[in-house]
Amino acid sequence: MLKNKNQKHAINLNLNVRGLSPSATLAINEKCNHLIQSGKNVYKLGLGQSPFPVPKHVVEALQKNAHQKDYLPVKGLPILKESITKFNKKIFNVDCSPDDIMIGPGSKELIFILQLVYYGELIIPTPSWVSYAPQARIVGRNVTWIPTEKENNWRLSPEKLELICRADPTRPRIVILNYPSNPTGCTYPLDRLKLLARVARKYKVILVSDEIYGLTQFDGKHISIAQYYPEGTIISSGLSKWCGAGGWRLGTFTFPQSLHWLLDAMAIVASETYTATSAPVQFAAASAFDTGVWMEEYLFHIRRILKLIGYFFAQKLIEIKVKVPIPEGAFYLFADFEFYREKLLRHEIYTSVEMCNKLLDDTGVAILPGGDFGRQPEELTARIAYVNFDGAKALSVSQTKYVTAELDDLFLKDYCDGVLEACFKICNWFTGL
Ligand code: PMP
Ligand code: GLU
Repeated sequence: MLKNKNQKHAINLNLNVRGLSPSATLAINEKCNHLIQSGKNVYKLGLGQSPFPVPKHVVEALQKNAHQKDYLPVKGLPILKESITKFNKKIFNVDCSPDDIMIGPGSKELIFILQLVYYGELIIPTPSWVSYAPQARIVGRNVTWIPTEKENNWRLSPEKLELICRADPTRPRIVILNYPSNPTGCTYPLDRLKLLARVARKYKVILVSDEIYGLTQFDGKHISIAQYYPEGTIISSGLSKWCGAGGWRLGTFTFPQSLHWLLDAMAIVASETYTATSAPVQFAAASAFDTGVWMEEYLFHIRRILKLIGYFFAQKLIEIKVKVPIPEGAFYLFADFEFYREKLLRHEIYTSVEMCNKLLDDTGVAILPGGDFGRQPEELTARIAYVNFDGAKALSVSQTKYVTAELDDLFLKDYCDGVLEACFKICNWFTGL
């Protein structure tokens, strides 16, 4: 027995998992935390996590429900599904019933299970959120990327989608459309949504409308594409972004009646894997989706703070010749530093990964390279998550000292100083190359 104590197992990993790295968003967060522990001054603009606290009464609902200990139905808690049904109608004018809804431990898990149970290819624009493609790889699914351009604010064009679908019109496909977008902060105007919906309908694609940042849209006018392609759209959302509860892990899918076969298949996989989403969190979520003045008030403040920072940051980058669209929601900027290519080359920096690594080494500012979002490695793009400020403080000052006033530069300077410093560090680093 003892003789074999140090015997090593051969590394026999599932082929789909071999060579995969940890998710870029989580890896950069851990890297930053290690650097901070080792004494480095780090600006965490890597992980996209809401800086704001969960609304007070939602936290209280969680506390009150700590005793909820039973396993809940696989598809989700009935009162939560009712609450989401009303929310969908009231906020987004989407008709659905509680039976159309599935709750999961994060929309990330739901998107993964969907990819697992569906038979067909995955189509995503580039840039897209970091996890769609690796999830496809894990389940052995083919991914087709559709490139987008900075001149078009990195938006998917209906013509390009049409071209891809037309080449093999009956092929089963999932298209994921995420807006306001991670990583660009841009959203789609109504006419573009309608054109995309028309192509999706023509080729009967399954459209996953990832609207997790919908409620953060700065003008409060987010529109769901489900209104224009109801029979083929699954709306993906959750508590993580607008409600600041990423760590609670609660996501939602809303299906049309015609796609209940997918919902049912996903519920089977859920029943054999995670069983059901955490009971106390589901009870608390029922309060979170229960719309009211409190929600409008909370969203008003978080939107105006994010807009103020996003506009300021983008403006500063534009002043130093960086190409970046003015954001319309979420908390991201997707910047193209092509203007600095020659100077970067002089420092032997050829790729977005090298650019971000050197920026972090030299300044302590952590951002994520465009390659993580499906862009070509040599393109000098990067995502900036402008979230490193004290969201609780900023929110409370916006709610008390600025009730009737517009937020101003002083607010930025006093309550968003971490992001401002990071912004100036980035600008100075590039201009000083
Ligand atoms: N979609 C997008 C675009 C995201 O940025 C994220 C990251 N939170 C998710 C889905 C997954 O969110 P969650 O699992 O926290 O619901
Ligand atoms: N969605 C967030 C991001 O893009 C982080 C959480 C995650 O990726 O799971 O940074």
